[in-house]
Amino acid sequence: MTSGGDENGGEVMSMSYTIASKAQRARHGLLRLGQKPPIPTPVFMPVGTQGTMKGVLPEQLIDMDCRILLCNTYHLGHRPGYELVKKAGGVHKMMNWPRCILTDSGGFQMVSLSKLMTLDEQGVNFESPHTGEMTLLTPEMSIEIQEALGADIVMQLDHVVHVLTTGPIVEEAMERSVRWLDRCFEAHKRKDQALFPIIQGGLNLEIREKCVEEMGKRAKVGIAIGGLSGGESKDEFWRVVAKCCELLDKVRPELPRYVMGVGFAVDLVICSLLGADMFDCVYPTRTARFGTALVRDGGLLQLTRNQFKKDFRPIDEECECYTCKNHTRAYLHSITGKESVACHLLSIHNIKHQLDLMERVRQSIDADRVEHFLNEFLKEQFPDGDIPKWVADASEFMGYTITKAAKSDYKWTSPLPGNGS
Ligand SMILES: [Zn+2]
Repeated sequence: MTSGGDENGGEVMSMSYTIASKAQRARHGLLRLGQKPPIPTPVFMPVGTQGTMKGVLPEQLIDMDCRILLCNTYHLGHRPGYELVKKAGGVHKMMNWPRCILTDSGGFQMVSLSKLMTLDEQGVNFESPHTGEMTLLTPEMSIEIQEALGADIVMQLDHVVHVLTTGPIVEEAMERSVRWLDRCFEAHKRKDQALFPIIQGGLNLEIREKCVEEMGKRAKVGIAIGGLSGGESKDEFWRVVAKCCELLDKVRPELPRYVMGVGFAVDLVICSLLGADMFDCVYPTRTARFGTALVRDGGLLQLTRNQFKKDFRPIDEECECYTCKNHTRAYLHSITGKESVACHLLSIHNIKHQLDLMERVRQSIDADRVEHFLNEFLKEQFPDGDIPKWVADASEFMGYTITKAAKSDYKWTSPLPGNGS
């Protein structure tokens, strides 16, 4: 594509995705969206809810070389309101973020925040949690709002059913999502935004396959795998990701694949190795609020624990983030839960940790040393050898040998309050 003015707002943007290197299923790619710094994949996208990063400044994210953020359409649409964001010159200007931004359709958040929700062919009817009024969100409106916000990547409005739903509704929702995608493309006029379709189909691999076929025909720049991370077992989760990536490899291998709502280190690594390219999650910033630091050694450090009272080491000796260069565990322990700066400092570290992890994945792909990296990573995360069974299964499926294969059933303990403090 060439650049030039466009009457519908925005320059025509050149968009491309190139795969720099591959190792088995995994890809190290480069997503270019206009003139902004290109995005190396696999990439983790931190989530800025209300146009802010919960205390992390844009300069700090640039210092970490973060290339893309996710912003929630629903939150921005409500406050400050999308017309106002548009008047302010779009979400990049409002946030003072010169790099790439992805906005979601707003639908998922409406559904999850609303007590009352009905859905028909027209769109989603939901009760605003703020005003109590019933509001209709159509595919066209979702696009109108996202065009006003002006992100580089926008998402289609889809019909999301809970991941554990079974029966005919799963296929109906998938088919409706395809029809809504067509309406989104019809409504989408900005030539400087990439619109991503979202593959639905719950845990049913046949429905996922049909959806990949339909969405694959329509996708232009990239494609998403949605409807996961909603309470399904890890075993079901990775099999859906694996299946979708395999199918996409056949029909549209050149598209970056974005698995929505993925942010735990193990999930990021396994999904990347299965061939997924983009991820987002509030996890690193949300968990920071509860005093949890993400670390290589064992995965998590719960800084509220008394054992850190006199621990004068940084969170992670190998981490180069602002927090690790300037503060000790003891200091963070003393302010966690008392001073909001603790949450900011931990968020900085946690985001850097995720970005570094993705960098390690990319390097292992370049060097064709994925199996070595996977073993090293699992040894760090599970020093006692208690590698979850689903991780061992997924690794075996991909043909990787895990040397320390003490398989056990996966018991996820939430690092949120009530645990570990
Ligand atoms: Zn750090």
